[in-house]
Amino acid sequence: MFTLTDSAWSGVRYGVGLSLLLCASFLHAHAAQPAAAVWFPDAPTFRHYAWTDPPCPGCSDLDPQPTWTRMAQLAGLSDVHFKRAPDDSEGDAYSLAPNVIVLSPSAQKLPSCQLAFVIGHEIVHIAQRHFDEDAIALSVYSGKPPYWTHDGDDAMQLANGDFGLALKLSPLWKQQEREADWLGSLLAAQVCGCSLEKGALAYFHPGDGDGGGIAAAHPPDTERIRQLIPFTESARRLMALAPR
Ligand SMILES: [Zn+2]
Repeated sequence: MFTLTDSAWSGVRYGVGLSLLLCASFLHAHAAQPAAAVWFPDAPTFRHYAWTDPPCPGCSDLDPQPTWTRMAQLAGLSDVHFKRAPDDSEGDAYSLAPNVIVLSPSAQKLPSCQLAFVIGHEIVHIAQRHFDEDAIALSVYSGKPPYWTHDGDDAMQLANGDFGLALKLSPLWKQQEREADWLGSLLAAQVCGCSLEKGALAYFHPGDGDGGGIAAAHPPDTERIRQLIPFTESARRLMALAPR
């Protein structure tokens, strides 16, 4: 999840800070993609930015569980990399552009359906290319052509120290988080047989502040729960497709 904290901008990172966003190779974005679930939205058609390897101090490679890989496949992704954070300081989980998911030690100890939701949420950020979407929005709001640079990092730098620009993007970030919540919940339902109650709704903690390590870009947990309730029946139906 994008874990945001202090400033609106630090809140941008789907999990941690914008400055950490970048990564991987341009070629990865063009690898052959598996067929997504019929209900999963098509991948965006806007252009791919190039992202450089993001800093992930102390991180180590993490072998994905088969269910994580299957959720990624249902989202149309064949190339997602997982990393283990050295501690919990950056929140439970976050994603780095274009295709890296970082899990904290605590996240890996979550009950299975809560972990499935957390991972499903991050997979949606990658599948729907929210990083590229942010780069375009930052460029346009800055008065530049959408593709004034090939480098996603350059586009993201536009937000550095520009609180007003970050506020302009805030509605987009919140829309992205809503999308990651409900689609991530449905991925967890179909692959892991997780109900909303055992997944996202159990993960959130209303009254504990922003919760979920997602602050600024992520709405308060009470709002996230309210927005997810309409998907309860959809999750139940997809649970019937989960392997037993
Ligand atoms: Zn998120």
